[in-house]
Amino acid sequence: MRRVAVSLLAGLTVISCTDLPVSDSSLKRTEYVMGTMLSISVGGRSPADLDRALDSAFAVVHDLDSKLSNYDSASELSRINREAPGEVSVSPETFEFLELTLAAAHESSGALNPAIGPVIKLWGFYGDDMKVPDANDLDFALSLVDYSSIVLDSATRTVRLSEGMLLDPGATGKGYALNLADKVLRQMEIPTVFFDFGGQFYRRGADTVDLAIRHPRSDSVVASLIRMATGSVATSGDYERYFEQDGVRYAHIVDPRTGRPVPDRVSVTVFAEDPFVADYLSTALFVLGSESDLLNLYPGSGALFASWQDDSLVFLARGSWSDLEGP
Ligand code: AMP
Ligand code: MG
Repeated sequence: MRRVAVSLLAGLTVISCTDLPVSDSSLKRTEYVMGTMLSISVGGRSPADLDRALDSAFAVVHDLDSKLSNYDSASELSRINREAPGEVSVSPETFEFLELTLAAAHESSGALNPAIGPVIKLWGFYGDDMKVPDANDLDFALSLVDYSSIVLDSATRTVRLSEGMLLDPGATGKGYALNLADKVLRQMEIPTVFFDFGGQFYRRGADTVDLAIRHPRSDSVVASLIRMATGSVATSGDYERYFEQDGVRYAHIVDPRTGRPVPDRVSVTVFAEDPFVADYLSTALFVLGSESDLLNLYPGSGALFASWQDDSLVFLARGSWSDLEGP
């Protein structure tokens, strides 16, 4: 029999969930990490095994946070930013994260740009002083976001930026963390896992669950449903971090071609098997819009776009979305 759970989440709402068979033991834990709440549910093993599994999974994510955080001056990422144009040697995790993120930047022709830091900083999105910047300052910040000048040397496992560059891990950090944490859970042979990482979901299991996609302007309205066994759902939204000036909403996802927050896009929710891919694509497609053919590179993936068109909120499904229980 299907169990039904209702919970309101940052980006999505899970309305019905068959994630863990009733006969199995299951365990759930929630902690604050990477600037948000991470809940992990595990099932299908003894309570002691599950407890150890949660310890290990959370340890991996906390450790990664201490390496990738751009809010922690002791992290490897902060050191790379601070020491530019000097060369910095980093852990295998930070190196792999940067390799994957740079590959995504090239693949998306720079719609996803991990060097966007100077522009995000200028708009004030890292703190509380958010405002439309001066045009000359914006031009200068934009001259510093050339991700092709990031040098990764795999022989020495070192990273080097050009003077003034700032890496921003925000668009892909959670997706990468989900993969690392699940790698540990697979090694521990945990058969059913469910993560809610501040609104990005990742689920691995034999049976199916239904995820309801929250309407971007109302927590209690369902915009669409997805049925899945294993995979991840990530949302990039204009409601997560934004300010309003002169009646215009400016949200935290910036088009690297203009240096300005993407206009008229409200949210993009992506389903992909791999959580890194879901996280990367939701940000890149937020910039590129529904005309992009990026989804074609990931068979089985799908996206739901919500955008303003002439004062109406319009939803568009792309890729596999219409094959699932789409809108
Ligand atoms: P997400 O919620 O995964 O879409 O990530 C959004 C975060 O990524 C923002 O808060 C910024 O820190 C950063 N960001 C904004 N625009 C971009 C972009 N075009 N490419 C890469 N990172 C970005
Ligand atoms: Mg993302």
